[in-house]
Amino acid sequence: MHFIDLKSQYTALKPAIDARIQRVLDHGQYIMGPEVAELEQRLAAFSGAKHCITVASGTEALLISLMALDLKPGDEVITSPFTFIATAEVIVLLGGVPVFADIEPDTCNIDASKIEAKITPRTRALMPVSLYGQVADMEAIQELATRHGLPVIEDAAQSFGASYRGRRSGALSTFGCTSFFPSKPLGCYGDGGAIFTDDDRLAQACREIRVHGQSKRYFHTRVGVGGRMDTLQCAIVLAKLDRFDWELERRRALGARYHALLQGVPGVGLLAVRDDRDCVWAQYTVFVDHRERVQQELQQRGIPTAVHYPRPLHLQPAYEALCCPDCCPASVHASQHVMSLPMSPDLTEAQQDEVVAALREAVAAAARTQELA
Ligand SMILES: *Cc1c(COP(=O)(O)O)cnc(C)c1O
Repeated sequence: MHFIDLKSQYTALKPAIDARIQRVLDHGQYIMGPEVAELEQRLAAFSGAKHCITVASGTEALLISLMALDLKPGDEVITSPFTFIATAEVIVLLGGVPVFADIEPDTCNIDASKIEAKITPRTRALMPVSLYGQVADMEAIQELATRHGLPVIEDAAQSFGASYRGRRSGALSTFGCTSFFPSKPLGCYGDGGAIFTDDDRLAQACREIRVHGQSKRYFHTRVGVGGRMDTLQCAIVLAKLDRFDWELERRRALGARYHALLQGVPGVGLLAVRDDRDCVWAQYTVFVDHRERVQQELQQRGIPTAVHYPRPLHLQPAYEALCCPDCCPASVHASQHVMSLPMSPDLTEAQQDEVVAALREAVAAAARTQELA
């Protein structure tokens, strides 16, 4: 069994993907070809945001957004410590300071009620992360941001396609940033990402920063980066959009089915999904005790697992000076207990049953070894 099955998706979409790739090879506009604008229009329409700007990766999307906001050295950005490193990395790259607010223990998303105490005169933006495919509490966060005059950047790398109170992830704040890394809910076959915004001026800034800050050829109005998404990757995402609604339905259905099958299994804790939003399960993640042991037991039964993430950012060697070691206890607890199970739209119910049966055995076996020890 694969942790993420990308092969079945390619098999299902092969004629469309191959034709899209061939068309790019035929016209030869590998950089900023017609597929780039086509994808941006399709994604803007899908998300409900006015503008979509494709970029080289999810990391680049976050970086360019902060550059468009003119983040300066010493500026603080409040974010979650329980995320992929890129979220904080881009802040530090620009000389900014990530300030970590702890997560809700049951959703693993930033706890909106913990943000206000972290706001200082140097705070320049709030950057919630929609982890595992569930949007953070964006209205509470937006209310705070409005009160303090701060922009909000949603790190939507794992949540493209998810909804929150009837609106789409990515289109809920000043900026939404997503990733098309192959294993994300909407993936390409390399690196890619996108920025969403309703703000004309910020959208223009992002478009310029993406191509070395140029407003016309060889005329640079600002400092930028080489941050374009290439035409081939845009073509691949376009082909995948034909199946994306079906895939989102599968993700939601498989997530609900995992939840139903694992409800009440001793030693397995479930992630909470709030009533006003859904989860597209970029990862299907549970909480377990004796995680390493459970993973070994699952491995022996042919079930691959992963940990997103084993160490919160405020305890990473390169970042630990930024936060007191004991200031985000829920993030530390989550980092010690989370474990992700196989998940992709093409996972079958039979495979899912196999995972659940193996997990029941693995958790029981791990508990037994613990008692003997
Ligand atoms: C994947 C991911 C990123 C980075 O995206 P890349 O396309 O790999 O650069 C950023 N934040 C989160 C939460 C992610 O999961």
